Amino acid sequence: MLDLVAREKSASAPTAVRSMYTAAVDNGDGYHLLYNTLTGAFLKVPSHLVKFLLTKPKTRLPIDDLDGFQRRLFQDGFLVPSDADESRRARLQYDARFNDRRRLELILLPHENCNFRCTYCYEVFARNKMEPWVREAIKRYVLSRARDLQLLEVAWFGGEPTLAPDVIGELSLAFRDICDQIGARYTAQITTNAYRLTPELSRRFVKEYGMKQFQITLDGTPEEHDKKRHLAKGGATFDRIYQNLSAMRDIEGDFTAIIRINFDLETAQRMQNFISRIADDFADDGRFIVHFFPISKWGGTGTDSLPVCDANVGRALKYELLEKAVDRGFGSRIRKEIRPMGTACYAADPNSYIIGADGRIYKCTVAFTDPRNQVGRITRDGTLDIDIDKFGLWVVNDGITDHNCQSCFFNPSCGGMACPLWRMESGESPCPTVKQEFPHALRLLAKEMAHESRVLEEAVLTGVAAGKEPSVGTNSRNVAFVPLSSVTSRESLSGSVD
Ligand code: SF4
Ligand code: SF4
Repeated sequence: MLDLVAREKSASAPTAVRSMYTAAVDNGDGYHLLYNTLTGAFLKVPSHLVKFLLTKPKTRLPIDDLDGFQRRLFQDGFLVPSDADESRRARLQYDARFNDRRRLELILLPHENCNFRCTYCYEVFARNKMEPWVREAIKRYVLSRARDLQLLEVAWFGGEPTLAPDVIGELSLAFRDICDQIGARYTAQITTNAYRLTPELSRRFVKEYGMKQFQITLDGTPEEHDKKRHLAKGGATFDRIYQNLSAMRDIEGDFTAIIRINFDLETAQRMQNFISRIADDFADDGRFIVHFFPISKWGGTGTDSLPVCDANVGRALKYELLEKAVDRGFGSRIRKEIRPMGTACYAADPNSYIIGADGRIYKCTVAFTDPRNQVGRITRDGTLDIDIDKFGLWVVNDGITDHNCQSCFFNPSCGGMACPLWRMESGESPCPTVKQEFPHALRLLAKEMAHESRVLEEAVLTGVAAGKEPSVGTNSRNVAFVPLSSVTSRESLSGSVD
């Protein structure tokens, strides 16, 4: 009888299993890297401690009997209750963000022409500066959302947005004013070639217009960059951009400048010297990070003559270059890419609209001429006049009925929404490249965070030596101290979109 009671008790005792969203990567040094795509938890742990997760992933562990380390895995979501409905949990995370009407993302095109003609560019430069009535209409639309708005995220895009700094100024001040009045948070970012981003303008962007992120492209050494990224009327651009970028170091304030470096097979081979140059000039300022991108056939007529990399080679080179940059002290975008919901495209987000210079509304920044992407217009009174069927093509186009997506470990990052355009065109699951690169990505993240820990330890030691409290200022990336050698460390990589 007693035996029966004991057996019944053990049959009903709650158990834990490995989460379907736990990824494990051998770091090659006796450690494994664990990442949970739903919670964003990241750990570097001695391999022997997680052998049970790797060799017997279906093992059920009685929750009451978990040891200290296993309990930590449970808290961070690497282990979950055996009866957890994880797909539903991932779905809830998306719904909480995408169905949140208190948030609004506007991608604005203040000028649709460009002062550059890059060889690989796909844009058609059909229009110029945003018309005054469109600006007024956008302000009216934002005002009309004031009752429930809590977060306004603006991204300035083009063409080249700095061809219309007055439009950016007028709308930024209006948005900040509205947000101040209603107690909403305002944040902005800009993708710019930076040729016209004078020191005075970048200072104004940060200090007055709430710009928190800049993406600026430099395609290698001056000679290589100038071959690909030249002025529309002809002429070199590297030196001016580099001066403007360097001047941003003097701005006091909290922003991130992503230096995007597009490479092909040839330029990748000669990148070491360029990495050294930018590391000497920027790597000690944690606000500057780098991102490498293999050039592919993006649609520009000039790509036919470029030695573009095939996907596998491009991926290997990208991480080789990123590692070199991280070794020189740079941070990367990797943690943002792999975080929960980090790779779902804004085109799939029902709270995100692109508004063009003539008031057209789009969803995708890559297919402006595609009629499916011209989903509506803003009217003079600030109403968004949307073709709901076209809009639905983008926002009801996820992985919910896609078998690949439902069983995919990367679902909480992508949701099957990494590229609605790709799904429409091909009918296939639009897996983001970072999923294919996941082992590389985790190893890079471990390296980057180990470097951050070292820097922080140095800062602490310097502070102690100088008899003062160590500070984590705006020039530091060390907001999260993660001693990777410790199994008790964790960083949540989730956060607001910037
Ligand atoms: S990821 Fe796809 S849908 Fe999203 S902007 Fe790019 S091309 Fe368009
Ligand atoms: S699109 Fe690919 S990566 Fe994204 S959830 Fe589906 S199968 Fe996974």
